[in-house]
Amino acid sequence: MTVPEPATSRPATAPSTTSRPTLTADVPDIAPDSARPTHDGPLATAQSQLAGAIRRLGYDEGMHAMLATPRREINVAIPLRRDDGSTALFHGFRVQHNVSRGPGKGGLRYHPSVDVDEVRALAMWMTWKCAVVELPYGGAKGGVAIDPRRYSQAELERVTRRYTSEIMPMIGPERDIMAPDIGTDAQTMAWVMDTYSVNQGYTIPGVVTGKPLEVGGSLGRATATSRGVVHSTRAALHEAGLDLPDVRVAVQGFGKVGSHAADMYADAGARVEAVSDQYGGLHRSGGLDMQRVLDHVRTTGSVVGFPGADPIDNTDLLTLDVDVLVPAAVEGVLTADNALDVAARWVVEGANGPTTAEADAILAERGVVVVPDILANAGGVVVSYFEWVQAQQAYWWTEAEIEQRLAERMLHAYAAVAEVARREAVSLRDAALLLSVQRVAVAHRTRGLYP
Ligand code: NAD
Repeated sequence: MTVPEPATSRPATAPSTTSRPTLTADVPDIAPDSARPTHDGPLATAQSQLAGAIRRLGYDEGMHAMLATPRREINVAIPLRRDDGSTALFHGFRVQHNVSRGPGKGGLRYHPSVDVDEVRALAMWMTWKCAVVELPYGGAKGGVAIDPRRYSQAELERVTRRYTSEIMPMIGPERDIMAPDIGTDAQTMAWVMDTYSVNQGYTIPGVVTGKPLEVGGSLGRATATSRGVVHSTRAALHEAGLDLPDVRVAVQGFGKVGSHAADMYADAGARVEAVSDQYGGLHRSGGLDMQRVLDHVRTTGSVVGFPGADPIDNTDLLTLDVDVLVPAAVEGVLTADNALDVAARWVVEGANGPTTAEADAILAERGVVVVPDILANAGGVVVSYFEWVQAQQAYWWTEAEIEQRLAERMLHAYAAVAEVARREAVSLRDAALLLSVQRVAVAHRTRGLYP
């Protein structure tokens, strides 16, 4: 089967440092990971999604094997000299899933549960995401198994510089470009860029995106993922004749993606009734005062303990009676165990891979509209692309230009995916995968095999 490319034209066109708040909230001293649900694993979900698209497209085993297998992977040991003089050792990874459409592109994650399979899944999703929004990139991802909240800034800087130097041969503005993800931020990107540049002998801002404005970052990057999540929510609601002021929203995860998204939803008139982070959540019927929640998080480092709302745990938040559920934390939170209880009519995936394959089937069966991660959270990589283009040209765009181009890209991609979904009578996720897997396969076929 060939999915006809939607007959719309491609739109023309490529943060300030976020400082990590110190955690002072009265939260239990748990490994931040302990709230993480057990699930099939993100790689199983990613492979099952790919297998479904391959089946529908009628591709052969050879193409399936090529698209299921990362092109390159590196696994590094990262010794750290701690501030107290002792030594600790961490494991780090960089995976380039596919580079047929351009250099690898993907975030760098610092989280205690990072392993190579998680990084492989995230790299594969980056390949599809870049193809859905028609960026000239392949997909890549990196990760270090570390809990950044337990290390000083100086220690994190040393870990980042050592990791960068270990993976140096694989990265570069024409090879593989990093960006922030869970547990990393604009400052982390500045350290990567500096380490890479010093080793190459000159300043190379294009090796990372999501870097601080002062060293070549782009206006609008810090909020781009969330802005894209809100654009795609609005597009999905419009299909049902609704808009943001008509809906109640719950957002899981209050980091770079979730906190800005919650703020933007509230700003646009939606009632944000629940938010959470890894330590717990808040619920208030009628809507939370987002400015006050943001102030509380700036002061304490967590949403926990906010006085104007009831506590809610991360499990209950997912099944809360709201219209729009936005998982914006970690993978695998919507599973076969809770998908039947999801009350929302729309699930907009701010996180990568929050829904397992089984949960996806249950939600589709129940008529819940899932705006898939590779579309919903693509705003971040779109503005990363804008940042990379600006760095390559050494010419900077205004915030208004960036926001307008981001909106065009997101709405264009949403319309293309929705058109395929209608035409093929499939879910938005299946449509996004059909389009993106086909685009990557076409690039493979067009380039041919060497030798
Ligand atoms: P972040 O580190 O800034 O924030 C993560 C948030 O999730 C924090 O509030 C943390 O407390 C919370 N969290 C962690 N574990 C949790 C758990 N088990 N239950 C509930 N909450 C938990 O990370 P981020 O950049 O906001 O990324 C969030 C998700 O969005 C990830 O899946 C990431 O891959 C995806 N994403 C991020 C970007 C980006 O530009 N940052 C772009 C696309 C996709």
